[in-house]
Amino acid sequence: MYLRIVDETADGIVVRGAKAHQTGAVNSHEIIVMPTITMREKDRDFAISFALPSDARGIIYIMGRQASDTRKLENNPIDLGNIKYGGHEALVIFDDVFVPWDRVFMCREYEFAGELVERFAAYHRQSYACKTGVGDVLIGAAQTAAEYNGAHKASHIKDKIIEMNHLNETLYCGSIACAAEGRAEASGTFCVNMLLANVSKQNVTRFPYEIARLAQDIAGGLMVTLPSEADLTSPETGRWLEKYFKTGSEISAENRMRILRLIENLTLGSAAVGYLTESMHGAGSPQAQRIMISRLVNMEKKQRYAKDLCGIPSGCRDQGERSSRAET
Ligand SMILES: Cc1cc2nc3c(=O)[nH]c(=O)nc-3n(C[C@H](O)[C@H](O)[C@H](O)COP(=O)(O)OP(=O)(O)OC[C@H]3O[C@@H](n4cnc5c(N)ncnc54)[C@H](O)[C@@H]3O)c2cc1C
Repeated sequence: MYLRIVDETADGIVVRGAKAHQTGAVNSHEIIVMPTITMREKDRDFAISFALPSDARGIIYIMGRQASDTRKLENNPIDLGNIKYGGHEALVIFDDVFVPWDRVFMCREYEFAGELVERFAAYHRQSYACKTGVGDVLIGAAQTAAEYNGAHKASHIKDKIIEMNHLNETLYCGSIACAAEGRAEASGTFCVNMLLANVSKQNVTRFPYEIARLAQDIAGGLMVTLPSEADLTSPETGRWLEKYFKTGSEISAENRMRILRLIENLTLGSAAVGYLTESMHGAGSPQAQRIMISRLVNMEKKQRYAKDLCGIPSGCRDQGERSSRAET
């Protein structure tokens, strides 16, 4: 099933297999392929990396579904929450696709697959600053919903908004830190600080869920019990919704519906694919970052400092230290 080389000619290679979950594949100009795990000699044919135009012959796209996606087929934009943007994932199948040599970056060099994955993943984990942009929108929506609900002056609501900002800005700090501590490689390219990139992405697997929980707390249950835009515009039911969903002379039922639908979209609807599940699994599931953290952290230095401060002579290795190193 995995993507692999099935033929080789003087002009290039022929590949067969599939790549799951590809974000934005259908609206991309190029598809870039690379290994996802460390490989051994028996995996040689799977150790490949290349780029091709998205419409190259033999590439097939099967679109993924998203929560509430059929709302996009209705003519009720308020029910979408986000009336401007959307996204998609696709299963990308390579049905004997030819790749010319000048587009091939890795061909059976299995011994470099692990390092390529680790470095790519570190860059990708750094780029999760994008989730703080979504967090900004969700925090703005929660504050607006609180104002529309008339609860924005309550101390616990203010504190929850502070907590959301604290978590969101912590994510931003992580992305900035691993980029700022990046170093030039011998080739002239820059590589992010890989330890900090993994720590940052580990936080991304958690904080957006808490931010979303607080947004739902502040929004109230109407976020998921609201009728549709069609009911709002219906001559029969619209006046009732206007009457019972209005919270003040300045705040219309329509605006309340709009902001609550946006929170629904970001925390439960199609945008939650990117804000929550992609935060969890994109660029590797949480355990992948924990493995990297355990590999990259300088435990010997930490132990040296601790021992120095409490007077354990340098070079003295007790049983505990030896066994913890062996586990690492
Ligand atoms: C919305 C979204 C967008 C994405 N976009 C892209 C994209 O654009 N391009 C791309 O290439 N990929 C993309 N991904 C894929 C992403 O990198 C993978 O989802 C991620 O690596 C996890 O792999 P998986 O989904 O197969 O989950 P699995 O690997 O099945 O993980 C599920 C659970 O099993 C555990 N597990 C897995 N293997 C083992 C093992 N050997 N031992 C013990 N535990 C194990 C994991 O830790 C996790 O808890 C996207 C994913 C999502 C959800």
